[in-house]
Amino acid sequence: MMIQTLRLTVLSSVLLSAAVMAADKPNVMILATGGTIAGTGATSTTTVGYTAAKVGVERLIEAVPELKNVANVKGEQVFQIASENMTNDHWLKLSKRVNELLAQRDVDGIVITHGTDTLEETAYFLNLTVKSKKPVVLVGAMRPSTAISADGPINLYNAVALASSKDAAGRGVLVSLNDQINAAREVTKTNTMTTDTFRSTDLGALGYMVSGKPVFYRGTARKHTTDSEFDISKLDKLPAVNVVYSYANATRTAIDAFVGAGDEGIVHAGTGNGSLSTPVKAALTEARKKGMIVVRSSRTGTGITARNGEANDDELDFVAADNLSPQKARILLMLGLTKTHDTKALQRMFMMY
Ligand code: ASP
Repeated sequence: MMIQTLRLTVLSSVLLSAAVMAADKPNVMILATGGTIAGTGATSTTTVGYTAAKVGVERLIEAVPELKNVANVKGEQVFQIASENMTNDHWLKLSKRVNELLAQRDVDGIVITHGTDTLEETAYFLNLTVKSKKPVVLVGAMRPSTAISADGPINLYNAVALASSKDAAGRGVLVSLNDQINAAREVTKTNTMTTDTFRSTDLGALGYMVSGKPVFYRGTARKHTTDSEFDISKLDKLPAVNVVYSYANATRTAIDAFVGAGDEGIVHAGTGNGSLSTPVKAALTEARKKGMIVVRSSRTGTGITARNGEANDDELDFVAADNLSPQKARILLMLGLTKTHDTKALQRMFMMY
């Protein structure tokens, strides 16, 4: 009898301490979407020519047992794609799922594993459509999971640690790879192959991950998440917006095709400070007269595309992209067009988000 009571006491204290430990740690959901972080190669030295989006979320979690030291993690496979196949529909699904989970009291933060090619775009879309101050961190890898010195496991560990940190709350959607923390609005993939590819080339990183602890140096000044006016909860489609790229000898063919396809908006990735060649300017002017919204941005990668700089936006009724990259200007324009077609209101959004 005494031995039984002793056993019960020991058992209940073990269970209790496990429960206390679990309660001590934040609950982080890992939403997996595919990419190289879930990729496999033929050999351990295959770092190009591998297949992305092969490994499921449970195996990603198992590969990093250290995750359980920082959080109670649960995984969910939202989709399994290479991120070049990311679409507006994927974004709507993902954002709705993130909002649903973050509304739960038992979810403290979210990590999204993602291919690196469009990671910055998904991050910015979520930055404008997630309605929570809880941390949301996007993470990927440049080397497949089967490679020597794969960067996925350490990146995933840092991302979970970051999503577990109270310090990460209220900062908008974050991107963490290669021991750095970057803001969704500012970060871009800068190199086709190297592990230090994610950079905020214009403004610099927000901070670093040091032995699983975030060290922040600054915040982002533009509005995001709970301060954003965009609500996708009832949407099942986004307005059609495409990007057209300029270069010497560029023709108007692509612009005319997008007008013909009935797009609501177009982002021009212009030379220099968003300058417009004569045929491109003529095509965009006609497009605007037909009702299409035209946003001028720059292909240079850094700096502001200034309103009324290289083109008279007031006269042409165009919108200037500020320092958003063309691919992020496309996202803001799509979301803006869900609310208004007024170019003054859209310009205000480009100065705000
Ligand atoms: N093509 C891959 C993807 O974006 C590249 C990567 O994840 O690094 O899914």
